[in-house]
Amino acid sequence: MSRVYNFSAGPAALPPEVLQQVRDDIPSWKNSGMTVMEVSHRGKDFIATAEKAEQDLRDLMSIPDNYSVLFLQGGATMQFAMVPLNLSKPGDTVDYVQTGSWSKKAIGEAKRFCDVNIAADSSETKFTDIPAEDSWQLSKEAAYVHITPNETIAGVEYHFIPEVGDKPLVADMSSNILSRPIDVARYGLIYAGAQKNIGPAGITLVIVRNDLINHHRPETPTLLTYEAFASSGSMTNTPPTFAWYVAGLVFEHLKNRGGLDALAEVNGRKAEKLYATIDSSSFYSNPVQKHCRSLMNVPFVLADAELDPLFLKQAEAIGLMNLKGHRSVGGMRASIYNAMPEDGVDALIAFMQNFEKENG
Ligand SMILES: *Cc1c(COP(=O)(O)O)cnc(C)c1O
Repeated sequence: MSRVYNFSAGPAALPPEVLQQVRDDIPSWKNSGMTVMEVSHRGKDFIATAEKAEQDLRDLMSIPDNYSVLFLQGGATMQFAMVPLNLSKPGDTVDYVQTGSWSKKAIGEAKRFCDVNIAADSSETKFTDIPAEDSWQLSKEAAYVHITPNETIAGVEYHFIPEVGDKPLVADMSSNILSRPIDVARYGLIYAGAQKNIGPAGITLVIVRNDLINHHRPETPTLLTYEAFASSGSMTNTPPTFAWYVAGLVFEHLKNRGGLDALAEVNGRKAEKLYATIDSSSFYSNPVQKHCRSLMNVPFVLADAELDPLFLKQAEAIGLMNLKGHRSVGGMRASIYNAMPEDGVDALIAFMQNFEKENG
């Protein structure tokens, strides 16, 4: 069975080189006669794999020494609760910027624990814009400021890092982590579910400045504290070993591809040509303001929505899969994470142009 071009928003495509390595490592990983799924997480082979994954990620993202890298479970959604439980006290005010469905969910959860000040909100634009930084109403006393640098559903992305003074900046980078270099030191905490740009679902990455780690509320369950994971090498209990191992293979693969500078170049090119195709036609359109278009998730609609089923059917027939847009937005969405090769984007563009010629 040959591989297709998978434009899924998540769980998303993994690099073929990584899948081949996984296949080679089954049924005997490191000549052990066992797979990585069947060995102790406290054995030396797995510890070495776990530590290498962390080191490769540190190298890729140039993570400063005063930051811890934690491998957790529960997805980004669990971070919506862990962030307030660990970084705020009851009665504290926290600042959130609402730019789409994911920040909205993060806000909903934070409201259970804190006073949430919505410092800026683009809901009136149907989340097709990111409010200009000089319009944000940050509160003086906020325990932290939370942003969602890439909104996976509407396809809006920050192309700046906001200036929030001495407040910790917290960022949900689930869908754009590792897509380009970022200055980690500008953030207090970065979190990301794995299943977009890191690896299989089931593992969640947290990169946190060390001085923010030991401030959880006393009643916080142990497994919801950063402290427990930071003090145990993320082995407070059995970690998702297989997902951790695959994430490590992805980090190694990204290093071999030349690191985040090289990836940013390809990702920039992929997005640019896809948006250019959409913008140059009256058959396709994308409603997002140009200054904040996502390089990872490209939603677009057809002028005639009645053609949507035919578009999807013909795309699938030539191996362009999972292009259906999120139900809240409609139309199409092409997620073009690191593992989507430029050839896949070229194939999508050729198909779109051809489809327009036949149906426009
Ligand atoms: C996918 C996604 C989430 C949810 O991730 P889970 O791992 O399913 O909890 C949260 N935030 C963003 C930006 C996402 O893209």
